[in-house]
Amino acid sequence: MRRYVVVGNSAAGVSAIRSIRAYDGSGPITLVSEEPYPFYSRVLLTHYVAGRVPRERLFLVGEGFYRVHGVEVLLGVRVVGLDVYGRRLELSDGRVIPYDVLLVATGARPVLARPFSPAREGVMGLRFLGDAERLRRATAAGARVAVVGGGPAGIKLACALREAGGNPTLLVSSPHILSQVADDEAALLLESRLAAHGLRVRCGVEVREVAGGPHGVEGLVLSDGTCVACDLVVVCKGVEPRAELLAGKAEVRRGVVVDDRMRTSLPEVYAAGDVVECTDVAWGQGRVGAIWPHAVAQGKVAGANMAGVHLLFRGALARNSLDVFGLPFVSMGVTRVPPEPGWSSQVLRDGDAYLKLVFRGGRIVGAVLVGCAGLAGVIQAAIRRGDGAWQQRIAIAGIPAERAREVCQGGIPGAEGSGG
Ligand SMILES: Cc1cc2nc3c(=O)[nH]c(=O)nc-3n(C[C@H](O)[C@H](O)[C@H](O)COP(=O)(O)OP(=O)(O)OC[C@H]3O[C@@H](n4cnc5c(N)ncnc54)[C@H](O)[C@@H]3O)c2cc1C
Repeated sequence: MRRYVVVGNSAAGVSAIRSIRAYDGSGPITLVSEEPYPFYSRVLLTHYVAGRVPRERLFLVGEGFYRVHGVEVLLGVRVVGLDVYGRRLELSDGRVIPYDVLLVATGARPVLARPFSPAREGVMGLRFLGDAERLRRATAAGARVAVVGGGPAGIKLACALREAGGNPTLLVSSPHILSQVADDEAALLLESRLAAHGLRVRCGVEVREVAGGPHGVEGLVLSDGTCVACDLVVVCKGVEPRAELLAGKAEVRRGVVVDDRMRTSLPEVYAAGDVVECTDVAWGQGRVGAIWPHAVAQGKVAGANMAGVHLLFRGALARNSLDVFGLPFVSMGVTRVPPEPGWSSQVLRDGDAYLKLVFRGGRIVGAVLVGCAGLAGVIQAAIRRGDGAWQQRIAIAGIPAERAREVCQGGIPGAEGSGG
């Protein structure tokens, strides 16, 4: 009988547990989690901050889930050491637990680089339920919040704080928001929507210094010499995989390197979710995906293989989606055309509806959609399949520009599965 240990009680870890139990009804499973709660949705944290979702709706399983799946749960305990040869884990409370097969599903943490490090009171990231609770309390108390970072996470949070009655400032170092995942035209549409809802956005400014004493923050000094007064700073400048358990033991680049069965370079050690990097189908190279659907899919594959069933992960596809005060935005794959031969893009624009497709060597590899998110499914399928028939079906060149809104709202004629 195999003893399974899963580190991390979130999308990847819980998906793996379900998968292990689908194939092995009796092998003992131990789950170790540094957080003290049952499995909850990180994706909903900004909805909770906005006041749109009550705390109890964040939880995706109850305690019964672990009982039914025969899982021994160690909550509020961190794994601090891994003995690969002895196949043992050392826990923060001093215990040592053995494993036959291990899953590292430890996720990622917000990047807090200079001037936001070393850690100080009043500067935080948003990753855990505790962070979201703190933000709700601060907003209710009228705190002035600065959100640093114009990616999807920063925008989501700034919108949520605004919705909750706050008056946050969003600080973006690039000339436009979403510089890593969209193009300028799409960004401008979304910036107008943010402005229409009274959200203060300042683009093209770096934070030079965090002003304040040891007990808190008073403001941020910016590269243009101005200062933004604030009591709380939330840094949303990307995440880094929490790969420290495997660092120096397994192959780790930006994230833990895994194969298509989610095996690390160590025997009987698997990894899944935000902690790993794996091949992205649009880029054709290893990247850290860091989105919920990847974590679930990878956990499922890891769990099956841990239980001895051969299952493969089909590769990641970077995706982002946002609702900016009612204006939907989706991007996937490559969103900016590199200045190299073989690349091209096609754009369709009508009012607030904007669709851009990016091609490499005639194959669709990315898309940006504003106001026409209903097309995301069919485009995603086309990128994954990468075959000519699908490419022709969604090639927008043949669709008259004046039909753009109709197309964006109704889907491209002939495209299987397209919809409003
Ligand atoms: C605010 C926010 C909004 C998001 N919105 C979206 C979205 O809209 N769409 C989307 O697809 N994705 C979104 N994401 C990303 C998504 O939540 C992650 O991709 C997903 O949670 C990854 O799951 P995971 O299981 O790999 O890791 P995580 O969810 O990070 O969980 C890892 C767990 O392991 C624990 N852990 C770490 N180290 C140890 C250790 N040594 N010992 C014990 N426990 C440990 C951590 O405390 C944590 O509980 C969002 C994330 C955040 C923070």
